[in-house]
Amino acid sequence: MKTLILGGTREARELADIASGERGFDIVSSLAGRVREPVLPVGAVRVGGFGGVDGLREWLSENGIEAVVDATHPFAGGITANAAAAAAALGLPVLHVRRPGWTERAGDHWIRVPDLAAAAKALGGLGDRIFLTIGRQGVAAFADSDAWFLIRAIDPPEGAMPARHELLLARGPFSLEEETELLTERRIEVMVTKDSGGALTEAKLTAARTLGVPVVMIDRPALPAGARRVGTVQAAWDWLRSQR
Ligand code: NAP
Repeated sequence: MKTLILGGTREARELADIASGERGFDIVSSLAGRVREPVLPVGAVRVGGFGGVDGLREWLSENGIEAVVDATHPFAGGITANAAAAAAALGLPVLHVRRPGWTERAGDHWIRVPDLAAAAKALGGLGDRIFLTIGRQGVAAFADSDAWFLIRAIDPPEGAMPARHELLLARGPFSLEEETELLTERRIEVMVTKDSGGALTEAKLTAARTLGVPVVMIDRPALPAGARRVGTVQAAWDWLRSQR
């Protein structure tokens, strides 16, 4: 079964790894091409946008795709919507893989906000030394702030940046010791993050809890109406096998 896995996540790589080794599956993984040196999945990989819903629909048809697994990052709302629309137009089965979001625990002080603009607004009065760990995209939403920012991303952000900042280019995962040291050394007063979920990037939240640092937590965009969603790679693989 010819399957497109929309990727850029660990889940997408794991699914490609499992499915590529199985008879009867022909897997193509797709990456947006944003990261300069991406961690590549096994098997066939294509890189770059498709050109909106129409471009994706054409690509799916031309390449004889029979099923689509959207295993993109929970905040990649554009490609998720496109995948749902293009697959629906062709009558193809589509599954969205979304790891569960994080949940607040005793000792946490989280301020949940719906989007980047609300996160920038929420900073007022919380502190002046802010750890922005939202990835490369979206930093411009904080460009007008007078606060000092530690901005951590894999590649440099594009667009406007806050006037007072330090850019830390690094690829996780980071240990609890590393996160605690970073927050302490930079005297961080507030953390801003997206509710990406997953254990790999959770250490920063544990460090914030331990140090009493408030966290502005940006909620995920909603999935398209009626979307079929699973939370694990195993459930995605079960679904994919059931489509044969
Ligand atoms: P987005 O806003 O949903 O997508 C914008 C456009 O980028 C899409 O319309 C599509 O272009 C192209 N695109 C996105 N993902 C693609 C993929 N896997 N294959 C081919 N084209 C893709 O996405 P984003 O937030 O920029 O994220 C881009 C990629 O980075 C995703 O693959 C995602 O899994 C990964 N990622 C994102 C984040 C995050 O915080 N957003 C974090 C970690 C990893 P066309 O319309 O031209 O097809």
